[in-house]
This record gives sequence, C-alpha cells and structure tokens, in this order.
Amino acid sequence: MHGAGVIREDEHDPYRRAEKWPDGTQCPQCRAVMHRGAWRWASEPPAATPAATSGQSRHSSSPHLCPACQRIRSHDAAGVLVIDAELLAGRHDQIRATIQAIARAEEREHPLERILAFEASAQGPWTIETTGLHLVRRLGHGLERATGSVLSTRYLQGEAKAVMHLSR
Ligand SMILES: [Zn+2]
Repeated sequence: MHGAGVIREDEHDPYRRAEKWPDGTQCPQCRAVMHRGAWRWASEPPAATPAATSGQSRHSSSPHLCPACQRIRSHDAAGVLVIDAELLAGRHDQIRATIQAIARAEEREHPLERILAFEASAQGPWTIETTGLHLVRRLGHGLERATGSVLSTRYLQGEAKAVMHLSR
C-alpha cells in the first residue's frame, strides 16, 4: 500500500508539522520517539495502556505530545469509518476481528495510525475513528474486500480528513 495514495497527508495534517519536534523528542503519553523526521516506537512494541508506563524516560527532550496523542486528547479524528447495520448483521465477530487485526498491524508500523474511538453497538451502525488517514483507508478497503461490501469516501478539510462509509 505504500505510495499508493495520491494524498500526502503530512502536508495537510495540522498535527504533523515535523519542525515542531527535534530528533529524539519522546511523546510522554505513548513513548513514541521522533527519529529523522518520523515517529517511531522506541524499543518495545506499543503497550496496551501507554499511560500506565512507569515514566522512567531517559530521554531529556521536551515532553510534547505526538500528533496521535494530541488528536486523542482533543478527540479530533483524521479518519471516520461508518459500517452500516445491515452489513454487520450476523458477522459482528468477523468484522470486529478484521478491524483489530488491521489496526494492530498498522499501529505497529506507524505510531501515528491508531484507533481513536470505536463505537460498536449491538444494533449497529458501527463508527470507528482513527488518528490517521492510512489506517482508516486500510480498514475501509480491508473490510470492503473481506465482506464484499461497497465503500464510499469523502474528503473534508482540504483532504486532511476522510469519512468512509461501508454498505451492502
Ligand atoms: Zn504519543
């Protein structure tokens, strides 16, 4: 999928101005580290509860939140995926497992691509909000393939935000 998108979200995304973070900056929330202009996971894979870490950082850089944690804090999603209730009928477990597998793989590779909110009611529809456009696109296209559904996409805010919709 790399390079497949025509949109350079870094140019549109107000949360991702790299010049704000010198090399070695560590996010105090999730512990991702700025390295050569990109956020990377420090040494270990992301913890399930980043806030529960001991806080014994050896990095002395200024404690700025990374773009993903800023979005989570202000609940400002870059991507929104809505899954129709009738598409969910009878396969909640399958769809939930697909979402979790895609999100885990994407987050491992890209620290700024995380699920920000996931509203999964029994009756549907489901709404998933993400901190990045990569993740919402991977979820949308992955579920489109896995379920044989129809995916539509709208871009907002000068292509900084994507709203995707999956229906039967
Ligand atoms: Zn962070």
